[in-house]
Amino acid sequence: MLGVARSAAPDEIKKAFRKLAVQYHPDRNKTDPEAEEKFKELAEAYDVLSDAEKRAAYDRFGHGLGKGPGPGGFEFDFGSFTSSNAFADIFGDLFGDLFGGSPFRGRSGRGQRGSDLRYDMEITLEEAAAGMEREIEVPRHETCETCRGSGAKPGTSPAVCGHCGGTGQLRMQQGFFTIARACAACGGRGRTIPNPCPSCKGSGVEVKRRKLKVTLPAGIDTGQRLKLQGQGETGAGGGRPGDLYIVVDIAPHPIFARQGEDIVLDMPISFGQAALGATVEAPTLYGKEKLKIPPGTQSGAVFRLRGKGIQRLGTLSKGDQHVRIHIEVPTNLTGEQKELIEKFDALCRQQKDTLPEQASFFEKVKQFFGG
Ligand SMILES: [Zn+2]
Ligand SMILES: [Zn+2]
Repeated sequence: MLGVARSAAPDEIKKAFRKLAVQYHPDRNKTDPEAEEKFKELAEAYDVLSDAEKRAAYDRFGHGLGKGPGPGGFEFDFGSFTSSNAFADIFGDLFGDLFGGSPFRGRSGRGQRGSDLRYDMEITLEEAAAGMEREIEVPRHETCETCRGSGAKPGTSPAVCGHCGGTGQLRMQQGFFTIARACAACGGRGRTIPNPCPSCKGSGVEVKRRKLKVTLPAGIDTGQRLKLQGQGETGAGGGRPGDLYIVVDIAPHPIFARQGEDIVLDMPISFGQAALGATVEAPTLYGKEKLKIPPGTQSGAVFRLRGKGIQRLGTLSKGDQHVRIHIEVPTNLTGEQKELIEKFDALCRQQKDTLPEQASFFEKVKQFFGG
């Protein structure tokens, strides 16, 4: 299953499992039900091989132990892999604590830390530049107020599970193995709830939309995230809560483009303005700025407006705004305009230094053809 030799060292097994687990992780294969099956099988294989005792049994009796009577004529239950510590372990460092991590997080065990939550927040470039405060609503599971998380109807209390005597496990002797499996009657919790709480139907948690005020600092950029400690999901059985991550995404702006702390603005000007020079009003995030265009400015020329960019996170200094000039060739000309341009163009061709680029270009072309 894992593609490793029978003699593989624990490190090698861990490595092989990581690779395959990433490949078949259900989050990555949402449309492929076979991937989930394969993932479960992988998890079982890893669960066996990462546990010295289980591995010894596997080496001795081979595969099939987990599925009905094995070659030795007995049943061996590995338990649910969702509660495997080894498994939580590897997912902890594989997928990090972020964004749910293991798909099995939070389903099992007691005293478990709550899951982290992610909230995607789209903001405008102006908001990113100025910093902002926004109230958001985050749905999350919280301890049920009616039963204070016990799951039992107020005035009643959970009962010790009669099936397992409160241990949450059933043990039985089979040959020389003692087999422990989670008690099905209580789901391994060791207690049952005869009178479930009406608000949460016995789960002890309820979904609440919590209002939070979020402050984003000036200069924040797409992909950056803000951690709100303890604002994630409530922990189970007294575990501490997870964290909430606000992930920032800046919406595209109709005129400005951001490059780190700088702003780039493409600005069209007329041929006349470019040729004669002009003072234009360039928009910036902080208002209009007068910009002097010198005579003879070419398309693609860039002018800098110092300090009109974005604030560097955690400082008071700002980047610059770069204004890139684009000369617009006039279109939809009237007869009179055409006449004037023809006259003008003819005059330009008579005087060599009016169009120096063209003059030098044709000089080079002449040399190229041996002229
Ligand atoms: Zn309740
Ligand atoms: Zn039980």
